[in-house]
Parts: sequence; structure tokens; C-alpha cells
Amino acid sequence: MRRFWLISLMLATAILPACAQDRLNVVASFSILGDFVRNVGGDRVSVAELVGPDGDAHVYAPTPADAKKIADAKLVVVNGFGLEGWLPRLVQSAGGKAVIVTATSGIAPLRLGSDADPHAWQSVINAKLYVANIRDALVAAEPADAEAFRANAGAYLTKLDTLDREVREAVAQIPDARRKVISTHRAFGYFAAAYGVEFIAPLGVSTESEASARDIAGIITQVKTAKIPAVFLENISDPRLIRQIAAETGAKVGGTLYSDSLTPEKGAAPTYIDMVRHNIKALASALAN
Ligand code: ZN
Repeated sequence: MRRFWLISLMLATAILPACAQDRLNVVASFSILGDFVRNVGGDRVSVAELVGPDGDAHVYAPTPADAKKIADAKLVVVNGFGLEGWLPRLVQSAGGKAVIVTATSGIAPLRLGSDADPHAWQSVINAKLYVANIRDALVAAEPADAEAFRANAGAYLTKLDTLDREVREAVAQIPDARRKVISTHRAFGYFAAAYGVEFIAPLGVSTESEASARDIAGIITQVKTAKIPAVFLENISDPRLIRQIAAETGAKVGGTLYSDSLTPEKGAAPTYIDMVRHNIKALASALAN
């Protein structure tokens, strides 16, 4: 009899962490934050994303299903710096008692015109601060799992240190004069500041706006004058514009740089680390020699 109870107890303990109702419900506003939360939370959290893979967090229109996710959540992890302009109203209408966690807390924003540049995650150093903020929020929300959250975060932060070194080594291989590209979306300001590759963008931060013929002509002149070796497509902007610029300037089309969202599982950037590795590989091969 005693053995039966012991086995039952062991089974219950083994099964518990996997039970959905025992997990901490966390909402992440977009896919990159969702990946960070999964890495820190492991099997102790259940993560729902509002803007999923290949989505655009700048111009998202929330659905009733999103309000349900927020109503059920204990934490809502957001980027801040003005990225999720649609979120406050969603949180208000959803009700619930979720704590809002701003992942960029403690990061000094760069400016994009008169606004804060929201794309702080493009510097791996900043990504480490995101992860630390998420770890602290998870620990505060579920102190019983603090040890697991700290261990997971520690292991992930070590991977991010390695990633940061990889980026620096890849950039160091590119000749100084060739460390400049143009790309459709002004999303790499923090990457540029951290790693010394210049990004020149034909479009403003809003992914809604279309470039005018004058914008394109201006960029073509700029590419020619500044001898910019490569132009890049992104997964959220119109690629026809970039192809036109490449055709008229002879600059190399460097492929896709992922900026604001991960890809689905089978894509080139299903995790943050995959995304950064994909981007540095694309930059290094387009800018080499
Ligand atoms: Zn963006």
C-alpha cells in the first residue's frame, strides 16, 4: 500500500510541471519576445503571442481572441518604445489583472526622428537586458519557480554572449569601407550602433507608408554616390522597390534580413538566435571583399 502511494506521488510530481493549468500564462506582444519568454520560462510557462511569426507589430489590429489571451494572462510582455501603440486599448478592453512587463526597461532608446526607435532587440547586448527583465518578471510572478527561471535565463544569456561574439567576428571580417547597406525598413539602428555597419533606409519607420518615385530616385543617387555594396529585402516590406534600386545601381541584392518578426518553424529565422545568425551570414556574404 505504502509503495502504491509513493509511486502515485512520484507520478504526480513528474506530471505536474507539464500540466497546462499549472503553468504561468504569459502573453508576448510579438514573436521575438515570445521566443525570449519561452527560453526563460521553459516548461513552467505557457506563452501566447499576439503578433505571430511573419507578423508586423507596428500596424497590428487586435482580435477578440487576443483580448481572451490577455484576460487569461498573469503577465503581458511588451517591447515598449512606442512599438505596440495598439496595446493599451486592448489591455483595457480585455480586463483581467495581468501585469505589464516592458522588456526594454533600463535600455536607453535611440531616436528615429522625434520618436524612440523601438527595434532595440537588434543589438544582442540589448537582447540580454530584455531577457534579464523577463527573468525578473517571471520570478516575481511565480517565486516558487525562481530557481528554474534563473537557471534557464543563465543558460540562454550564455548563448547570447556567444552570439554577440559571432556578430563582432563576422563584422570584423568585412573591410571598413564596405560596412554599409540599404534596407527597406529602418529597423537596424541598434545593430548599426552596436556593431558598426551603416544602414541606409529608403522608408520611414512606418511599414504602412509607400516610397514615392522621388524617394527611390534619392536612394539610387545615394547608393551610387556612397558606393553602397548591397541592398537588402526584409520579410515585411515590398521587395519590388529594392529590386528596382539594385537594377539601376548595380548594388548586390543581399537576400533577406529579418527585423521585426521571426519566421514559422520551417523558415530561416524561427528563433531570435537563428534570426541574428541568418542576418550576419547574409551581411557578411553580401559585403565580403
Ligand atoms: Zn520595425
